[in-house]
Amino acid sequence: MDKLLELYQTMGVSGQVYAYGEKALEKLADRFAKIDQVAEYNQAKVLSAMQRNRVDATCFMATTGYGYNDNGRDTLERVYADVFHTEAALVRPQITCGTHALTVALSANLLPGDELLSPVGAPYDTLQEVIGIRPSPCSLAEYGVSYRQVDLLSDGTFDYENIRKAINEKTKLITIQRSKGYATRPTFSVTQIGELIAFCKSVKPDVTIMVDNCYGEFVETIEPSDVGADMIVGSLIKNPGGGLAPIGGYIAGTQKCVDRCAYRLSAPGLGQEVGANLGLMTSLFQGFFLAPTVTASAEKGAIFAANLYEPLGFRCVPNAAESRHDIIQAIELGSEKAMIAFCKGIQAAAPVDSYVDPIPGDMPGYDSQVIMAAGAFVQGSSIELSCDGPIRPPYAVYFQGGLTWYHAKLGILLSLQKMVDAGIVTL
Ligand SMILES: *Cc1c(COP(=O)(O)O)cnc(C)c1O
Repeated sequence: MDKLLELYQTMGVSGQVYAYGEKALEKLADRFAKIDQVAEYNQAKVLSAMQRNRVDATCFMATTGYGYNDNGRDTLERVYADVFHTEAALVRPQITCGTHALTVALSANLLPGDELLSPVGAPYDTLQEVIGIRPSPCSLAEYGVSYRQVDLLSDGTFDYENIRKAINEKTKLITIQRSKGYATRPTFSVTQIGELIAFCKSVKPDVTIMVDNCYGEFVETIEPSDVGADMIVGSLIKNPGGGLAPIGGYIAGTQKCVDRCAYRLSAPGLGQEVGANLGLMTSLFQGFFLAPTVTASAEKGAIFAANLYEPLGFRCVPNAAESRHDIIQAIELGSEKAMIAFCKGIQAAAPVDSYVDPIPGDMPGYDSQVIMAAGAFVQGSSIELSCDGPIRPPYAVYFQGGLTWYHAKLGILLSLQKMVDAGIVTL
């Protein structure tokens, strides 16, 4: 191990920070073993879906133009549907990001006069303009879709009484965000989401339930589609892309919902029949194949970070001991200066762009400045080691990703080193 420490020292990690990290790790063996068990189960789930759907070399051929009869694309969509236990799935490089996938799912399944309900508080920042909570051209509000929101109770649980009151004859679609996103509320377990879905359906059986599944895929052995969600939606530059997908999003759900999404994404009448794969099928299949172990690596990184920072007095969400339902670790650093130091460390550990210094800046879709650290092979990929956060109290960084656990570990050690060097913490 002295050899490793020597190498780490040349990369900027001091013996003191390294030793502090090793001490924190000693206590995590059992939790890491449990993560490995989930990954093993999910690996088998993905593999068996690929086998059942007869993935073969013809699936990796590029198509161009209209993309009619695209066997690779169609097979990939069957594999996703199989893994998520849904009737259908739409998995496309033409879906540009998670926000786009969610926008397609919402606008395909909501018509003028319908109401959208979020029973879990405000949705992710970028969705606020999609819905029209912050006015924006082409928002759902502009098309006559109204919106209602029920906040979580102060202990982070569902406000069932007010959810019941909020569901009315106009309520068409209920959106549930699994991950905390940029909020410091808890992420919900799939079981909790299942309870909320059952409650909503008991109040209004024909309501459509959509779950924003971003960052949640493969963290548990079941997904929200296993507990009653009509649609689950996510980004391929997060968990299910396994770090290899260069672009894309997915919507998996009932045939009826997915058909409408396909008509919205391409055109009414065309639906899933068009959309060339542009040669991306190897990355999308192989990324999905790697996703369970990549997600496990990211989760280990998140737990390690919480166990390093919480004892130093920083509030961590989830806390160091809590069970995990997504790969995001929020750490409340208390100042802009600490956010910058933390991000510098993550950046310095990257395989790409390690020599640049992150600084806060404006971002489309966000209403305050944001700082980001990412040295990713796929630009903006947040399944790769990265962190970001809006520059506003409580000055929380949202740390996520790590294609390998060892890279995540080094990034977290370097973040702590920068905090020590800046005089923000003393070990
Ligand atoms: C990342 C994320 C989104 C948006 O995805 P983008 O790919 O960044 O557009 C939406 N919801 C949640 C919970 C997310 O984490």
